Amino acid sequence: MSEFPSLKNAKQKLLSDLKELGIETSEAEREATLILSEITGLALAQQILQETRPLTGDEAIRLKDIANRRKQRMPLQYCLGYTHFMKAKLTMTQGVFIPRSDTEAVVVLATELIQNKDSQLIAEIGTGSGAISIALLQELPKANITGIDLSPAAIELTRLNAMQNGVIDRLALLLGNWQEVLPMALDAIVSNPPYIPRHKRDSLAPEVANFEPELALFGDDPDGLGFYRSFAKIAPQHLKNDGFAVLEFGDEQDAQVSLIFRKSDWRNVQIHKDMTGLPRVITATCPIKSA
Ligand code: SAM
Ligand code: GLN
Repeated sequence: MSEFPSLKNAKQKLLSDLKELGIETSEAEREATLILSEITGLALAQQILQETRPLTGDEAIRLKDIANRRKQRMPLQYCLGYTHFMKAKLTMTQGVFIPRSDTEAVVVLATELIQNKDSQLIAEIGTGSGAISIALLQELPKANITGIDLSPAAIELTRLNAMQNGVIDRLALLLGNWQEVLPMALDAIVSNPPYIPRHKRDSLAPEVANFEPELALFGDDPDGLGFYRSFAKIAPQHLKNDGFAVLEFGDEQDAQVSLIFRKSDWRNVQIHKDMTGLPRVITATCPIKSA
């Protein structure tokens, strides 16, 4: 008999460890399958077919390493070193925000609004891992994007992910505060900015509060809406006539965000829901420019 556990026993131990952390059963099953798949290279069906095969020594060491990190409540995506966002597989490193499926709505809406236009010059504010820009470049073969982030780690990870997904030739990257480096004459600006009010820190899951970068999470101003206030004033100068914005916002921020844009004379202000049915994205056309 091998000194190492069988795939089946290793998975059961992992499942009970994950459930002990308070992770709900179906999510624990999903995580255990992904972790086993990462260390063995086997998809779920193969894991079941080979359930009596013992782990190799190397596999056992990697499993222990990943399980130990996950037990510290490190997000699974950092433990595995990758995640998926729409059609992209993205390398994930600690220090850079993990893309959420809610954000797919930003990509879907921006794609619909720009796909029939002749000119598709887009900027993304706050690229993080590159999720939005890379997904947009995959959807829009004629688009060119300038990605901006204040975090050097985010810019480097976006560059790596854009290379790995074959879209780096249409992505320019700028390190800096968006207010200082945003290009001119854009057709569209997209962003999932930091928007969580700082006072909500204690209500965040430990995976988020202890591991994700503060710069990516917390918005300026007590209500977290500082970004939208600055953006509504500054962005029009950077957009062409009829240029538009597609921006994500947080829970219960729809009425306030929409008011900020209406008050600054943005046109066609519309709120859209994410895949869970919650208001999550605003689209708006920039104010009419005086000649
Ligand atoms: N777009 C990615 C996504 O959806 O997964 C990341 C979004 S994350 C919520 C926000 C990003 O904005 C972070 O990467 C953060 O570093 C960046 N950021 C925060 N303040 C910024 C600023 N003033 N200028 C440029 N980027 C900024
Ligand atoms: N959706 C993230 C969360 O709730 C927050 C992202 C953001 O501030 N843009 O953890």
